[in-house]
Amino acid sequence: MNNICGFCNNTFQYGLLSNGKGTTICPDCAALISKMYDKKEKDMSQEELTNNLKDVSSRALKDYLDNYVIGQERAKKVLSVSVHNHYKRLMSNLNIDEDIELSKSNVLLVGPTGSGKTLLAQTMARALDIPIAICDATSLTEAGYVGEDVENILTRLLQAADYDVARAECGIIFIDEIDKIARKGENRSITRDVSGEGVQQALLKIIEGSIVNVPPQGGRKHPNQEFIQIDTSNILFICGGAFDGIEEILKQKQGENVMGFDTTSVKLSEDELYSHIEPDDLVKFGLIPELVGRLHAIASLNEISEDDMVKILIEPKNSIIKQYQKIFEFDGAKLEFDKDALLAIAKKALDRKTGARGLRGILEQLLLDLMFDLDKYEGYEIIINKDFVNGEGEAVFLKIKDNK
Ligand code: ADP
Repeated sequence: MNNICGFCNNTFQYGLLSNGKGTTICPDCAALISKMYDKKEKDMSQEELTNNLKDVSSRALKDYLDNYVIGQERAKKVLSVSVHNHYKRLMSNLNIDEDIELSKSNVLLVGPTGSGKTLLAQTMARALDIPIAICDATSLTEAGYVGEDVENILTRLLQAADYDVARAECGIIFIDEIDKIARKGENRSITRDVSGEGVQQALLKIIEGSIVNVPPQGGRKHPNQEFIQIDTSNILFICGGAFDGIEEILKQKQGENVMGFDTTSVKLSEDELYSHIEPDDLVKFGLIPELVGRLHAIASLNEISEDDMVKILIEPKNSIIKQYQKIFEFDGAKLEFDKDALLAIAKKALDRKTGARGLRGILEQLLLDLMFDLDKYEGYEIIINKDFVNGEGEAVFLKIKDNK
């Protein structure tokens, strides 16, 4: 008997089952497939699933996003409307009596690193209770090159859907750093990955909607392997990227002289400029027109300001500070930050130039010693001040009064 599993392509000495016609399967893949068939019985049909999603209004989606994503009002609106229309479209297309077929509208989020692009996509998937797969375009390659095949994104979505194909087929795929696979344009000085365009072509195939053969456990495709077929036509694709350098294209378009700006006015006008990105700007940047044509809604995100940085620390439902307060609470200690401390943390994060992404690292470093000795602080309120944040003083410790 052939000792290679026809599904995962791994070699096994024992335990392989064969159908007597040359197809073999290992115990892991057999369990996976049996799980998928079990699920098929009890899962909702795609129609029921999309019908439920269609009833969530754009406003309700935006309200949900507001609980977790600070600022970025326009991006939240664009995404909410696109997602709502996406599910309306699915319902409409499932109804064969409709004359007008609505075409799919995927979303492109343009904004600097750490401005909340991934967070927006993740939060939207949570709002809808649908699976999401997040991947980085730079790790993808055309089949045959070293790296990850584009189809593996679908394997991840399938895994996020717990191998429920119907659920995966109406999930979300977030592809970050789409700008990094731009082809090298005529006017661009930065040398780009030569395989970028090939990856864009491969992505285009799954974004525009097709039936894709997906290896159930991921990894490289293999001629004798068995696949699961996934129809990508109802999957919502959200792409994200910083598009560094596109402001030159935007400024040229507006007939402005790139030179001679002072830095403050460049900053101000950049946010405005980014909000006017149009499809042909993306083509000039190096995305292929066919791919741009599939990204109907474009929303730009602003760079995180100092004020927003402070809000991000405290306002979201699961804000970073609330999370640390919970950790301290487990040991009977109360953690507080005064206003200046929050500002000092925000300033440090701005210095790192990684948007709000830097906040967690700063807090982890700041609170490390306190967390190490947390058992000593039971019954204390610990107030973090600016001096402690800047390494110039100690935090304040107050004994919590026992009211019993
Ligand atoms: P991007 O994808 O734009 O590079 P992320 O969404 O991954 O950035 O942001 C990194 C982290 O920073 C998030 O997990 C979140 O904690 C925080 N963050 C970024 N932007 C925001 C925002 N607008 N509101 C709340 N938190 C944010």
